[in-house]
Amino acid sequence: MDRIDLLDDGFVALDAWMADDLSVVNAARVSFGTRRDGMEERDVGLVGFLMRERHGTPFEHNSFRFHVRCPIFVVREWMRHRVSSFNELSGRYTELAPAFYVPAAEDVRTQVGKPGAYSFETVDADLAQRTRARMQESYDAAYAAYRAMLDDGVAKEVARTVLPVGIYTEFWWTLNARSIMNFLSLRNAETAQREIRRYAEAIEALWSAKMPVTHAAFVANGRQAP
Ligand SMILES: Cc1cc2nc3c(=O)[nH]c(=O)nc-3n(C[C@H](O)[C@H](O)[C@H](O)COP(=O)(O)OP(=O)(O)OC[C@H]3O[C@@H](n4cnc5c(N)ncnc54)[C@H](O)[C@@H]3O)c2cc1C
Repeated sequence: MDRIDLLDDGFVALDAWMADDLSVVNAARVSFGTRRDGMEERDVGLVGFLMRERHGTPFEHNSFRFHVRCPIFVVREWMRHRVSSFNELSGRYTELAPAFYVPAAEDVRTQVGKPGAYSFETVDADLAQRTRARMQESYDAAYAAYRAMLDDGVAKEVARTVLPVGIYTEFWWTLNARSIMNFLSLRNAETAQREIRRYAEAIEALWSAKMPVTHAAFVANGRQAP
């Protein structure tokens, strides 16, 4: 399985896929009742044409299933991408482990500028360390309350409400290349939050290895989903 580790306890794994660049050109050729068994040079041009002209449906005849582990605040952004399928670990049925995201010192940042034109700058080492310590302290207190409620017999679905959005969760994510490109155009971008962007970079690496011609056309056309 292709897997990329991320943040302090996360990963993206390509769990299964059914995909190649040939399916894109053959899907387009269905219009003319033809089909080929291998990619030729002119097929590379056809993929570029489809991307440029935003003929999007030929990019839908494939499927990728990812297994993802990330903090809940990242999933909150991720699950806005409706044209895809999700199944997530249940905090009602499973006792959640004390695994929380603490950013590396260089990822503790301050926000500079105005809405719509923010930039994020690394803070000095003392503040980074204090922030990391405060986060850990807060996580420890929240998890101790969760643990105490479980020990008293409170249901998991009630006790979990005290857990912060920095806790790690896991989910499966299944979608096609057209939807992946929409996700990447928005999440592997300057404007995306750093943490989800790291995941988007990993998704892009895993996807592009299976559909390199499609990926090159996506990049050449300004990283816009067709
Ligand atoms: C930098 C950034 C900041 C954001 N800030 C906020 C925020 O402050 N608040 C907030 O609520 N969200 C925010 N979002 C989430 C954003 O509004 C989208 O919900 C998210 O990016 C998913 O994009 P999508 O709808 O294109 O994806 P998908 O849901 O996967 O949809 C893919 C495509 O299908 C089509 N589509 C899907 N559903 C419909 C529909 N109902 N009607 C018509 N067409 C449809 C559209 O063409 C869409 O682009 C932010 C996203 C980013 C990247």
